[in-house]
Amino acid sequence: MLDVCLLGSGGMMPLPHRWLTALLTRYNGSSLLIDCGEGTQIAMKEKGWSFKPIDVICFTHYHGDHISGLPGLLLTMGNADRREPLTLIGPKGLERVVTALRVIAPELPFELRMIELTKPEEHLELNGYHITAFRVNHNVLCYGYTLEIKRQGRFSPERAREQQIPLKFWNPLQKGQTIQTEEGDCYTPDMVLGPARKGLKLTYTTDTRPTESILKNARGSDLFICEGMYGEKDKLAKAKEYKHMTFYEAARLAKDAEVSQLWLTHYSPSLVHPEEFLKETREIFPETYPGKDGKFVELMFEEE
Ligand SMILES: [Zn+2]
Ligand SMILES: [Zn+2]
Repeated sequence: MLDVCLLGSGGMMPLPHRWLTALLTRYNGSSLLIDCGEGTQIAMKEKGWSFKPIDVICFTHYHGDHISGLPGLLLTMGNADRREPLTLIGPKGLERVVTALRVIAPELPFELRMIELTKPEEHLELNGYHITAFRVNHNVLCYGYTLEIKRQGRFSPERAREQQIPLKFWNPLQKGQTIQTEEGDCYTPDMVLGPARKGLKLTYTTDTRPTESILKNARGSDLFICEGMYGEKDKLAKAKEYKHMTFYEAARLAKDAEVSQLWLTHYSPSLVHPEEFLKETREIFPETYPGKDGKFVELMFEEE
């Protein structure tokens, strides 16, 4: 099960009832944050999520509305007695940007590990999350992220018994470990596990025009969270100029990528009531929902 919380749904600047867009997920006791604009830690506090279990922070790009909340969050994590290392992931320039922001948060009781993305598409595995970072198209270098929780095949006690695998190895094999005994026997998980089952897939993209990379990586996502800077159809030219998207472009991507559900986010401060444009957006992709601050879902593994 993967918990997903859209902390905020705003773009450019935080508003009194709309924090900047950021996404928080929780899986197996490990939290992951994507983007951290001004006020992100207040949004987290409002939703009652704790700071200490954040193990990974991914950045889409280094515009202020996506990163300026970092130093304050780091200080708060320090105050929450975090001791374990924290991994930061972001486009080229991560080290330079974070080092500059660290001037006002110099002493932290935990180590920062930085992973700078250099290729158009990169795959990382951290804390049970399979992360794909893919380049998108904004007016600065920007990435989208797909998070996947893989699910292994079902354990078969019958097969374990048939192959006379000692009972004490069943549990580690079930957890994916390979066992090498002192007697020279080798047991591998595929001896007792069936074919991999459907896992969970979440894709988050903001500050971009529609791209092939989004279409490819969002494909089949259980949840696709995508920017919708403008709901007004006549703002398409503006969206193109500033490298953002309209609701309709996001919905088209959701439809073409055959996702289960779309949440819109990163609204322009001028867009007061996103719901007004929902009817027309749903004509393109019916499972469209307006992102709202604190919008939450538990993505569950498919029942067997
Ligand atoms: Zn932005
Ligand atoms: Zn931006």
